[in-house]
Amino acid sequence: MTDDSSQPVRVVVLSGPSGSGKSTIVQRLIRECPVPIRQSISATTRAPRPGEVDGEHYHFLTLAEFETQRKNGEFLECAEVHRTGNWYGTLWSEVDVAQKLKMWSLLEIDVEGAQSVMRMYPHAITIFVTLPSLDEYERRLRARGTESEEVLQRRLQTAREELKMAGCYRHQIVNDDLDTAVQAICRILATHQAEINAR
Ligand code: ADP
Ligand code: 5GP
Repeated sequence: MTDDSSQPVRVVVLSGPSGSGKSTIVQRLIRECPVPIRQSISATTRAPRPGEVDGEHYHFLTLAEFETQRKNGEFLECAEVHRTGNWYGTLWSEVDVAQKLKMWSLLEIDVEGAQSVMRMYPHAITIFVTLPSLDEYERRLRARGTESEEVLQRRLQTAREELKMAGCYRHQIVNDDLDTAVQAICRILATHQAEINAR
């Protein structure tokens, strides 16, 4: 897949600190977005959370499997996220499927992975999701209740660092009101789709 005018790259990168609402927004976009869009299912070495299904939420891999696939060049990007020792990566196969269907690939990835995608595809649509305050991240993470205290504190520390990267993204969206945030992203995508259609 190339980033040239003959073959427009339909890649949307969504990043933001843990608890900013990325997963919630992704689910809404898949249902409501006016442009054809497909979620890229990442590979990860972290353990599934209760209710998470292999191949649906993530492709859950052992570290050895992940390493083999990485060496085989199967990842568009990958990173160790949140200093947990857990690896996450975007598979070429996921993006290729969407590209063949002329659908947008929606990548919910961390800031390091996003930088790799930006270098590879300067025309990718990059969106950083934020909240009005750090206190609100903490409130939402605690309300979600999926992390231990130690992991939660680490994610808050990472959030402070990730927020410094927001300016590298083409769009910043404050997820204060969910409907407003989803509508804003839908508008961004519809505008870019219209540009592609007009070529
Ligand atoms: P992330 O994927 O960025 O870690 P989640 O999508 O899991 O974040 O959202 C974190 C928590 O905040 C979840 O419990 C979710 O239901 C909630 N949430 C998401 N968006 C909003 C919003 N706009 N207002 C209030 N709560 C929200
Ligand atoms: P979680 O463990 O909460 O599902 O995800 C933790 C973090 O991993 C999130 O910030 C998410 O954006 C990031 N992440 C998920 N998939 C990928 C991926 O394929 N690549 C990269 N670089 N980060 C990812």
